[in-house]
Amino acid sequence: MATKEDYYELLGVERSATADELKKAYRKKAVQYHPDKNPGNKAAEEMFKKVSEAYDVLSDADKRAAYDRYGHAAFQQGGMGGGPRGGGGFHDPFDIFREVFNQGGGGGIFDEMFGGGGRDGSRDGSDLRYDLEITLEEAARGAEKEISFRKNVTCERCEGSGAEPGSKRVSCPTCRGAGQIRRSGGIITFTQTCPTCGGAGTKIEKPCSACRGEGRVPKTTKLHVRIPPGVDNGSRLRSVANGEAGLAGGQAGDLYIVLSVKEHELFERQDDNLFCEIPIKFTLATLGGTIEVPTLFGKASLKIPAGTQSGTTFRLREKGMPSLRGGRQGDQLVRVHVEVPTSLTSEQRKLLEEFGRVSGDASEPTSRSFFEKAKKFF
Ligand SMILES: [Zn+2]
Ligand SMILES: [Zn+2]
Repeated sequence: MATKEDYYELLGVERSATADELKKAYRKKAVQYHPDKNPGNKAAEEMFKKVSEAYDVLSDADKRAAYDRYGHAAFQQGGMGGGPRGGGGFHDPFDIFREVFNQGGGGGIFDEMFGGGGRDGSRDGSDLRYDLEITLEEAARGAEKEISFRKNVTCERCEGSGAEPGSKRVSCPTCRGAGQIRRSGGIITFTQTCPTCGGAGTKIEKPCSACRGEGRVPKTTKLHVRIPPGVDNGSRLRSVANGEAGLAGGQAGDLYIVLSVKEHELFERQDDNLFCEIPIKFTLATLGGTIEVPTLFGKASLKIPAGTQSGTTFRLREKGMPSLRGGRQGDQLVRVHVEVPTSLTSEQRKLLEEFGRVSGDASEPTSRSFFEKAKKFF
């Protein structure tokens, strides 16, 4: 394995950087190296992946602590923590939805990023959330979806400045360009952000007629979403800079697509394993044979050994959900349910009665041991 670059160096921050500083640094780099902005540029793509990975680790308090202590060794195979993405990595380098992380921990990410205001009056766009329901098949195989949603985009007429083309910004009359005003309440004087210009110190002379000076206009936006195989309920996909546009030069927010997986008629998921229950004939359970079992990836054949009991669970290796983190694919667990016939023809009845006669009572080991125990109560 080649020597990996230091995550802090990749992001260009001090080791003591706060969460906020990390985020700012990451966003700057992510926008700079974004595949959309650098089509066909392998070096940019590499950097994009590297800074994404760095942020992935450093933005998670636990992973960051592990990294600080053990460096990259913390995330190598067999190391603690399992790694940021286990090395199996980014499924598609051109996929703008590069971030997949499941629920648990963090949590506040949606509120957390509400526009940080700059001294220049700029405001970052807020993040958006889009809930998307998919089927279990789509979660297993991956899917491509087109989503459509409304968001505020930069006004084309004024290019986001909020000023009518040709007009200019003038010094704010309330604060005279200071961005702050002084107020005195009795013996104390305090300063406050100017309510007229929001701290910018300037004011639009004539507001843009398209956005009424807002700098942004609502617009229905379409987006192509690529869902990687293995996602689960609550998985979130992050699309960098596809949230609301920023104001006055502020950065765009991100779009988070929160996935929910519809219940399936046959399969129940538990982590990366899939469970299903299949009825089999009692003759098959007794004599053994092979059955065809549905899986999310087509049919599979399952050998039923002679003498299989109802409730026995068989394992179909790697027919479960793919691992998001590039680990081993889950298994499909098949629980068989032996069906007792409910209506018999007279011929079947005769044959079974004959079978019962030649079998005698308590011929099988499980019932033998049961009756031995039961005798004590008689
Ligand atoms: Zn405008
Ligand atoms: Zn002002």
